[in-house]
Amino acid sequence: MRWVTFEAGSGERVGVLADGVVHALPPGARLVELVGRGAAGLRAVGEEALNAPYETVPLERVRLLAPIPRPPAVRDALCFLDHMRNCRAAMGQSVDLEDVWYEIPAFYFASPSTIVGPYEDVRISPGSAWFDFELEIAAVVGPGGRDLTPEEAERHIAGYTIYCDWSARDLQLKEGGLGLGQAKGKDGATTLGPWLVTPDELEPYRVDGGLALDVEATVNGARIGAGSTGAMDWTFGEVLSYASRGVELRPGDVVGSGTVPGCCLLEHIDLADLGSFPGWLKDGDVVRLSVRGLGEVRQTVRAAGLPHPLADRPRPGRRARPRRANPAAARPSAAPYTRGLHEVGRDVWAWLQPDGGYGWSNAGLIAGDGASLLVDTLFDLRLTRELLDALAPVTRRRPLTHAVLTHANGDHTHGNQLLGDEVRIVAARGTAEEMGHEMAPELLAGTQVFDLGPVLSPYLRERFRAFDFGGIRPRLPDETYDRELTLDVGGREVRVLNLGPAHTAADSVVHVPDAGVLFGGDLLFIGCTPIVWSGPIGNWIAACDAMIALDAPTVVPGHGPVTDPDGIRAVRGYLAHVKEQADAAHAAGLTFQEAADGIDLGEYAAWLDSERVVANVYQRYRELDPRTPTLENMELLGLMAAWEASRGDRPGA
Ligand SMILES: [Zn+2]
Repeated sequence: MRWVTFEAGSGERVGVLADGVVHALPPGARLVELVGRGAAGLRAVGEEALNAPYETVPLERVRLLAPIPRPPAVRDALCFLDHMRNCRAAMGQSVDLEDVWYEIPAFYFASPSTIVGPYEDVRISPGSAWFDFELEIAAVVGPGGRDLTPEEAERHIAGYTIYCDWSARDLQLKEGGLGLGQAKGKDGATTLGPWLVTPDELEPYRVDGGLALDVEATVNGARIGAGSTGAMDWTFGEVLSYASRGVELRPGDVVGSGTVPGCCLLEHIDLADLGSFPGWLKDGDVVRLSVRGLGEVRQTVRAAGLPHPLADRPRPGRRARPRRANPAAARPSAAPYTRGLHEVGRDVWAWLQPDGGYGWSNAGLIAGDGASLLVDTLFDLRLTRELLDALAPVTRRRPLTHAVLTHANGDHTHGNQLLGDEVRIVAARGTAEEMGHEMAPELLAGTQVFDLGPVLSPYLRERFRAFDFGGIRPRLPDETYDRELTLDVGGREVRVLNLGPAHTAADSVVHVPDAGVLFGGDLLFIGCTPIVWSGPIGNWIAACDAMIALDAPTVVPGHGPVTDPDGIRAVRGYLAHVKEQADAAHAAGLTFQEAADGIDLGEYAAWLDSERVVANVYQRYRELDPRTPTLENMELLGLMAAWEASRGDRPGA
């Protein structure tokens, strides 16, 4: 028998489904009570409904709810050990499970208030960038009981249904550090449905006492995983027996099977090939889970709300970190270095985000007659939304028609999706190509949850914790150019020049000749340290000369306060200094790490993020000797963190 709980305009109802028609019980019936009558009692009520229904309603006319909308208790077990092994492999950990996994069935309690029906939208957990689903099946307890044997517990099962354990992987990993079990990482939602199928209906699928039901999970129609529930290492009877030790199981209690191996996103992370990852769930994604004999659930994922922040507690023994302040902020400038919008020329604005460190990038707006151009978006959707709202008084009358991306880094591109389709996104060809190869933005949330060791973890957590990498869908440029492009923005000439490769594979600057304003993108870090991701350094120095030659009195950098040609000269001076020091060290036979460790930064030592010199010396060594071993960005960041720690400028140091 297939039992449904539904809503048809007159409150919550219960019925039996047969041939596409719901045979409803009178209002007031609740499945959670009926299952307590045991298999025979439940069957008797069901047969009465089929023979003499209170009313009949076609299935398509009702809205199905979870069969048990408010279970007394929800336990989710981990019956498929391969799921745990696959998760460990995905996280780069040993797949050799500890003895305890083989001794007792694992389960945790989920919140009954998060139960949702089979076709309801599911909201992403607030603060999560790594939202995932888990295809499971659930057993629903009929008559309760305690201290049951596995055989007794099996006979107490009233039926089965599909169970989706919506999971916020980043929150789960973070809370894992507490060692106290599941909390907000598993608190998003739990789907039950579409109906409760009694055990007798599933007898054809019984194999060796277990249920072998074929399953499949898809996202937006693409298959993510498939398998069979026959692969359970622990049976429902065993899990319920274990759960009933000294505890009363109650009618309607739900226990999930754990994920059928392969049927969630997490298991599909390949650390050696992050580009192959299908991506975490985002607003609008449709997740369909089907289980032979149990039907299918189909749900749309919706964007998260923002969590209300909590302040950190002081950690005993941790020295307060010196306040970061951009040392260039005190220089005279066309605009004070404060967060927000500043007019830096006639109808030209800079959006500034102190202090200019990782992710705290600047953007710009150039307005003409009935049109305007945006220079760069920001690191996450919240920051970009705030920027676009602040621009609205201008863009309402002179709508955005163009956006120029100065380069591919996420702190200048992640907000692209918030621009309307009518906004033409323009970038150098090399920038568009680089954007196509960037790792999924939401993996940056890993900086907050992965244990990358005692030096790199605190370094990354502090620098990236302010950003929310959820929900970002990369939007690539609509139009590319090679070296030089002139745009007409409402009758105003705007010149775009690609002066890279230097910071990245292509680095554009945006020049507004009639206002004397130059947006330098990340060819300019002011009061903070430039980082050479691409090079060659000589090309970056030449780019500085080219910017100086434009003779724009007002210069907006990618990071740091608004400056002037002297600011460009300072960046040029830094690069020339590092190049000269690295060349001398190389000639003296030092390794690049020795060169970076021993470098005297002189007047540039006060610039923020001075540890980036490690990456810069490394790039120079690569230019001098192509046999210098290749380092991934994460390895370089690790060396930078160590450099910073060794100079005594780290929390706890
Ligand atoms: Zn940047």
